[in-house]
Amino acid sequence: MAYKITKNCISCDLCKNVCPTNAIKIVDDHPWIDPELCKNCVDSIYSVPQCKAGCPTYDGCVKDTSEDYWEKWFDTYKSLVSRLTDKTNYWENWFNIYSQKYSQQLQQNSR
Ligand code: SF4
Ligand code: SF4
Repeated sequence: MAYKITKNCISCDLCKNVCPTNAIKIVDDHPWIDPELCKNCVDSIYSVPQCKAGCPTYDGCVKDTSEDYWEKWFDTYKSLVSRLTDKTNYWENWFNIYSQKYSQQLQQNSR
């Protein structure tokens, strides 16, 4: 999951200094976002992607939508799980809660 810089970038370099993961590099005099380092500003102090938020162009910096669906899904999953304070018996607890909710729904539907 990453942002990318497009041909509409005017190389003002504003984004380079605000990226919290130092994902933006200058390659051949143009900024480039390293997709391995870009984390969409998730888990940073920012609530929006800084490269896009500060870009003076409309679409010089955009979300790369060409990525694989499941890759994105697992990135989100890993990010959420990393925030859990207690990972003990995570799946067992999840399954218990899911089973309870499912049973409740079945009972409601059978009335
Ligand atoms: S989205 Fe955030 S982490 Fe990714 S390149 Fe932009 S500023 Fe850096
Ligand atoms: S802020 Fe926008 S225009 Fe400036 S270098 Fe970054 S992507 Fe290009």
